[in-house]
Amino acid sequence: MSLLRLTGVTAAYGPSQALFGVNLDVAEGEAVALMGRNGMGKTTTVRVICRLLNATGGQVLFCGESVAGWSSSRMARAGIGLVPEGRRIFRNLSVRENLIAAARPGAWDEARVIDLFPRLGERAAQAGGTLSGGEQQMLAIGRALMTNPRLLVLDEATEGLAPVIRQEIWAAIRQLKADTGLAFLIIDKSVQELRSVAERTVILERGSTVWEGGFAELDEGVAQRYLGL
Ligand code: ATP
Repeated sequence: MSLLRLTGVTAAYGPSQALFGVNLDVAEGEAVALMGRNGMGKTTTVRVICRLLNATGGQVLFCGESVAGWSSSRMARAGIGLVPEGRRIFRNLSVRENLIAAARPGAWDEARVIDLFPRLGERAAQAGGTLSGGEQQMLAIGRALMTNPRLLVLDEATEGLAPVIRQEIWAAIRQLKADTGLAFLIIDKSVQELRSVAERTVILERGSTVWEGGFAELDEGVAQRYLGL
């Protein structure tokens, strides 16, 4: 059974339709890359999955159950951990407070997050807003892990970061993939890094799923046609 399944999902911002038919499956423990050029609907799809935006049609199932009408906090309790675009950490709370605020019972606690990102341990008492961009991103990932999710959704987690920090974050994602049973839905611009983590990719164009398959099948033709690479 799929952990997450979207079938024919449509969504709109007021009168302006943004999703026209998104189909997407993530199995337990699987990593899927959600790709597409700018403005094609990736973040909107994430917002629908996390119940931050209502779908206007189609179906979203999590663990086989329709999430229609669920609040975003219920979605988080059900097991979706979101690392949103732009991080959205609590700037006035300390690193520790940011982590504790998200905590739910399970294998992930503050010590384990700090083990994954030792820099967060060094900065535990520092206000979130005073961290570097990379550290804030690590905190955003740590906070999502503290909810003990089954599916981690990463929306542009390495956007705008220095290459060395970007590598650190990808190393942590790869470690999570290797060491835990977590499933991932990952949006990122780096095809090379996505390929190192994800088994499959789903490509959106103008709000619709236009291609899906294994990375091995994502050849130059597909990349050129749908990703402009
Ligand atoms: P990017 O890679 O640039 O983040 P994306 O694939 O995530 O792009 P979305 O942000 O989901 O794309 O945008 C899909 C469409 O919805 C675009 O046409 C965009 O202009 C529109 N859109 C996004 N957010 C809003 C909003 N808050 N209000 C109105 N339209 C929006």
